[in-house]
Amino acid sequence: EDEEQLMISDYTETEAISEAFNEIWGKMRVIDDSRQEFVSNVSHELKTPLTSMKVLADSLLAQGDVPAELYKEFMGDIAEEIERENKIINDLLSLVKMDKSAGTLNVSVVNVNELLEMIMKRLRPIAERQNIELVLESFRPVSAEVDEVKLSLALSNLVENAIKYNKPEGWVHVSLNADHKYFFVRVEDSGIGIPEESLEHIYERFYRADKSHSREIGGTGLGLAITRGAVLMHRGAIKAHSKEGEGTIFTVRIPLMYIV
Ligand code: ADP
Repeated sequence: EDEEQLMISDYTETEAISEAFNEIWGKMRVIDDSRQEFVSNVSHELKTPLTSMKVLADSLLAQGDVPAELYKEFMGDIAEEIERENKIINDLLSLVKMDKSAGTLNVSVVNVNELLEMIMKRLRPIAERQNIELVLESFRPVSAEVDEVKLSLALSNLVENAIKYNKPEGWVHVSLNADHKYFFVRVEDSGIGIPEESLEHIYERFYRADKSHSREIGGTGLGLAITRGAVLMHRGAIKAHSKEGEGTIFTVRIPLMYIV
């Protein structure tokens, strides 16, 4: 009887193990699929500027006497594509650093008011070129234990987007506030907004809401993935509200103290 009991329990154990194995196997396949998709997206994104450069160079080479004007124009286009390629590679490198499992935070006590002032100062010339008003409102002094470089990149991306996806004569309002546990950064713009059905996808790598418009504006579709990665590494949260044609509000919440 004992033996029979043993066999039954053996059997259920084997079954449990096999079930667990299947579950792990299933999860691994999901990870593998998304990795494959990522690699295929990266390849595609890196190839696009290369293809353009090849076409531009080939058409110059195919002509005997290229007028100086045309030569200059094509070279200018090629330089632009190189710059784009460079931006994609830089963004990819940033994204890798924001990988929650691989990345480490270099935490120190940072004056967040000053950090935001620095970001605004750097982006003001870009905003002015498009006649966009850039305003920072700090409701209180904030010192927080954060990774200065990663947080700066995360917030810069939000302000850059607010400028990029704005309308002429528009505005961008950035505000900083805090309670006893968190600080909050809000980036509000008077821009083109994000369609409702796109909102849930904007943090995906390479996702761009308005393909034709976005292509013109120039971007990699990696900015918000980087921002979200950095915010999550700080155990923070990010939220977006938007109304198409009216504007967008991003809110980031980060703990004042970093808990390991
Ligand atoms: P990109 O390099 O295209 O700017 P992001 O990851 O930063 O990539 O943003 C993803 C997409 O989300 C953008 O292509 C754009 O369509 C949309 N988006 C992001 N921020 C804003 C904003 N403030 N207003 C309108 N659309 C935005």
